[in-house]
Amino acid sequence: NLNGEDELQMAIGSDKNATKQSCKVAVIGAGAAGLVAARELQREGHEVVVYEEGEKVGGVWLYNSDVEDDPLGLDPNRCSVHSSMYASLRTNLPRELMGYLDYPFLPREGRDVRRFPRHEEVASYLQDFAEEFNLLLLVKFCTKVEYVGIYRGDGNTEADIVNDSSFKQQLLREGCEDLREDSANLETRWVVRTRERRQAVEKERDVLNFATGCEDQVTDVIFDAVVICNGHYSQPRVAWIPGLEKWPGKQMHSHNYRIAEPFRDKVVVVIGNGPSGIDISLELISVAKEVHFCAKKWDLSKDLFWPLHEGKLQCHLLVELVTEDGTVHFQDGISCHVDVILHCTGYLYSFPFLDTHGIVTVENSAVGPLFEHVFPPLLAPSLSFVGLPFKVVPFPLFELQSKWIACILSKSSSLPSTKDMMADVQSFEFEYDNWLAAQCGSEPIESWRIKMYKVAQKIRKLYPDSYRDIWDDYDLLDEAQSYLLKLKT
Ligand code: FAD
Repeated sequence: NLNGEDELQMAIGSDKNATKQSCKVAVIGAGAAGLVAARELQREGHEVVVYEEGEKVGGVWLYNSDVEDDPLGLDPNRCSVHSSMYASLRTNLPRELMGYLDYPFLPREGRDVRRFPRHEEVASYLQDFAEEFNLLLLVKFCTKVEYVGIYRGDGNTEADIVNDSSFKQQLLREGCEDLREDSANLETRWVVRTRERRQAVEKERDVLNFATGCEDQVTDVIFDAVVICNGHYSQPRVAWIPGLEKWPGKQMHSHNYRIAEPFRDKVVVVIGNGPSGIDISLELISVAKEVHFCAKKWDLSKDLFWPLHEGKLQCHLLVELVTEDGTVHFQDGISCHVDVILHCTGYLYSFPFLDTHGIVTVENSAVGPLFEHVFPPLLAPSLSFVGLPFKVVPFPLFELQSKWIACILSKSSSLPSTKDMMADVQSFEFEYDNWLAAQCGSEPIESWRIKMYKVAQKIRKLYPDSYRDIWDDYDLLDEAQSYLLKLKT
């Protein structure tokens, strides 16, 4: 039995829903970003299709022992492998922080229950998430997005796909003169061209004795909006070093590193002091003859990492140059003969399928212009990106960005004018999370998350080889666990 107040609440609720706009949205990628984007878009009443090139959800967390045929990952025609996971990888953030805000990453019996679990546990968590929210039904697997472009036709013919560069000029003019005060009014739609790998589908059909025909299926579909969640840990960025063209040793990017064994008895230089560079150097110590770890900034007096492994691991400033006789010369004046250079130097953004007539560009490893790292002002809100910032706690950020996109597309929330968006301000980490949360009426990030993140960053730097198993933030852990368990029940 409803009382008057309940009835009023229901009426307000349904009224709110009635004014919401529902869009047909394509999400590209079913990794951690694409999955939560799909959930938030669907929750907000949008019609969602997720295109995923692979056969499973999880993206970069799906370990693949295969490596690319170009170990540096420079050849655009190489056979590409999406995942950059190495076999031994354990998370570099505690599970309490890593999970989505409303779907805690809790230990499950019979699985890896550690605070910093291995990669398989994260892949299982993402699979659980997809099943819990019925997202698998939305995903078109083995389907690669080959082209995303602006569509202004009224039919489904290829001729309707806009290829006219004057369109960009028009948008720029309109944007600059601020004609698009309400940016949501500009109905830019998108054509998404996909290629479905029939072989994978046919394999399943074979079992049912259907006739087999292995032609890929190419399809164009028109969408009101496209959310790009294709990840940015697959396109290696490689250090440029004078003399490399004639240096006779081997080179590899960490994207193609899986296990230490191939480096047995080798002299290895590892470039880059990010989490992968540190993990891989520590792993190589057990098999390699020498490991030379080098980075831009290196303060021996402050770092405990170096003295602990003295003799096995040597730390240097960056490589100055390499020579034809196989020698590597470091900026600190030391030189040695080296067998392998391992570039742990990060990744580049890459959107090979995206055609925005130059409105969105990728330059110097930055994507822009973007309002709050999500919307290109001239194409907002119909085009958006989830997960671009690097120095963040990824899953909660993906969730908040996705909520924001979903609200903007449904018109429950609005964007500033194009002009104001163009004056996009860069802000990072939790301030940015809280800004996103405020946009869609979500709670700000809990204070224990901020404190735990700071502790995690600090101990990872101080104790890179033990921080995953030894910690002392017990108070924070208690607070986090009681919060997350309450959330679960
Ligand atoms: P991805 O996981 O890369 O997913 C993108 C998906 O898009 C993939 O499934 C891909 O197949 C698909 N795709 C790409 N292009 C197309 C296309 N054209 N058509 C169709 N589908 C396409 N984060 C943490 O929180 N904790 C950690 O400990 C941690 N450790 C990491 C260690 C390593 C070595 C790396 C590389 C990353 C680590 N990260 C960590 C960051 C991690 O990348 C993010 O947590 C997150 O998983 C990224 O999700 P994503 O969905 O943005 O991208």
